[in-house]
Amino acid sequence: MGLAETRELEERYLMRTYKRGAVDFVRGEGVHLYDADGKEYLDFLAGISVCSLGHCHPAVVEAVTEQAGQLMHVSNLFYTEPMAKLAKRLSDSSLGGRVFFCNSGTEANEAAIKVARKHAHGRGIAAPEIVSFEGEFHGRTYGALSATPKLARNEALGPYLPGFRSVPDNDAEALRAAVGPNTAAVLIEPIQGESGVWPTTEEALLAAREACDAVGALLIFDEIQTGVGRTGSLWAYEQTPVRPDVITSAKALGNGMPIGACITGPAAADALQPGDHGSTFAAGPIATRAALAVLDAVDDPALLRSVREMGARLRAGLEELPGVAGTRGRGLMVGVALDEGIDAATLGADLLERGLVVNIPAPGTIRLLPPLVVEKGQIDRAVGLIGDSLLGFGAS
Ligand SMILES: *Cc1c(COP(=O)(O)O)cnc(C)c1O
Repeated sequence: MGLAETRELEERYLMRTYKRGAVDFVRGEGVHLYDADGKEYLDFLAGISVCSLGHCHPAVVEAVTEQAGQLMHVSNLFYTEPMAKLAKRLSDSSLGGRVFFCNSGTEANEAAIKVARKHAHGRGIAAPEIVSFEGEFHGRTYGALSATPKLARNEALGPYLPGFRSVPDNDAEALRAAVGPNTAAVLIEPIQGESGVWPTTEEALLAAREACDAVGALLIFDEIQTGVGRTGSLWAYEQTPVRPDVITSAKALGNGMPIGACITGPAAADALQPGDHGSTFAAGPIATRAALAVLDAVDDPALLRSVREMGARLRAGLEELPGVAGTRGRGLMVGVALDEGIDAATLGADLLERGLVVNIPAPGTIRLLPPLVVEKGQIDRAVGLIGDSLLGFGAS
């Protein structure tokens, strides 16, 4: 079956929720993808920061295939060793508290919202509120969606959950004013990903930490995109002046196996109790074995140093290109601002033609999230392809 037939089936049978690039991939290896015609692509999106070790990383493939032949699922009514080991590993490598597992990013934030509300009720708050910045993205289920101001404006999907408010991005003053006696938590992305790679300022992060401490609220970092090595440290918060009380993780945690986690520090570790939350699939042995293999590879100073170096090389190369107005981000999470008049969507489609997979999160912006194992030559090749494409758009 070729692309045309696949598209026909999609048109007929899938809900129209996605706009897809005109290619059907059949195979992946390292930083490369291959379509049905055998054409090779350099993947600088990595399944939206999911395949951080590259496609079909041998250690992950081995963990998944071995576990699939041994035991795929038993539910959370019983013990399984990989789940317990992964929880220890995540806690030890971050905030030191407890972990709740789930299957996606949005669910990790749902768990964090429950933790925050329960923690607030424990402090006698009857109507707890969660405060975020306007440009953030936290997911598509109703709790996470209600914490995603731009999407929660779509009346056709309302009503949304009560108990959420937002303030303008990086507005420390407005954040301080919004946090009060009813605040359960401040929920923020240390670097906004979906809106186009916008690092939250240190001033705003410090204001959030101080405001939470002043009223006893929890500071939650959504590290679903920034975590698991993406920014050059295992967690993005390590490169900020603040330490959150809760972090959420997903995307790269399973390198393609669906898994999410809500990880607490001591303050919030015991908020959820039996009956408060659960998931049938969560922390299954295949996903947790995959995640253990991922952490073995990513939690490595040499790899994390390479992420910082390759990120710097990528940004330096891009900033030399005519048509590039500037770059943003940290490590291998890079947003590229294009000169006015260059249509990013058309550029993205042209790059796909040329064999480079990128993402266009917003008009005028390219987002690059290459696998963390990307090498110098591949960085230079991607910069070259983007340069060639920009020339075709009249950049000079
Ligand atoms: C992708 C993402 C989510 C949602 O994750 P899903 O797995 O799609 O539910 C939430 N927050 C951030 C910051 C993300 O990048």
